[in-house]
Amino acid sequence: MKIGVLAMQGAFREHIKSLAALGVQGVEIRHANQLESIAGLIIPGGESTTIGKLMVEFNLLDPVRHLAGGGLPIFGTCAGMVLMARDIIGSDQPRLGLMNARVQRNAFGRQVDSFETDLEIPALGPAPFHAVFIRAPYLEAVEPPAEVLATFNGKIVMAHQGNFLATAFHPELTDDLRVHRYFLGMIK
Ligand code: GLN
Repeated sequence: MKIGVLAMQGAFREHIKSLAALGVQGVEIRHANQLESIAGLIIPGGESTTIGKLMVEFNLLDPVRHLAGGGLPIFGTCAGMVLMARDIIGSDQPRLGLMNARVQRNAFGRQVDSFETDLEIPALGPAPFHAVFIRAPYLEAVEPPAEVLATFNGKIVMAHQGNFLATAFHPELTDDLRVHRYFLGMIK
């Protein structure tokens, strides 16, 4: 089984390492024809405007949307979460727009640009997940069938909708593999 990791910009290598630690091959995706043989796709953190622009340039938005509609599991982290949301507050930047969610970018404010915290994520079991947030977004609202998996200070930072998963934080930057394992569990 191969998992594609969108490699336009951002933290794609780290996701490939997390997948390797789980014994799964991650492949860098830069062209639509590379999407053919993958069982799932990760949209990494980085800069969502840049990643979106490059997805337009490389003609990737429609092929990914098409596969998403056919059930391909897709997991977006941080900028990836922004690209997964249907509504991006105050922005008309390119996006996949797959999840019934409204996202606020750079949402935790300048003072707390980046921070780490232990999150309760019941879907991953009782042990808290050490989460790294870097200029992170949060979801201001989700609508069914999207559901909330984790919140931080009342803000939605992890959500699930059918074959889609999104985290505001960066699970690829820690050794805890439970979020990646959860995503692999979404693959039939
Ligand atoms: N603030 C970035 C954006 O909106 C996301 C930051 C990240 O991915 N670490 O694209």
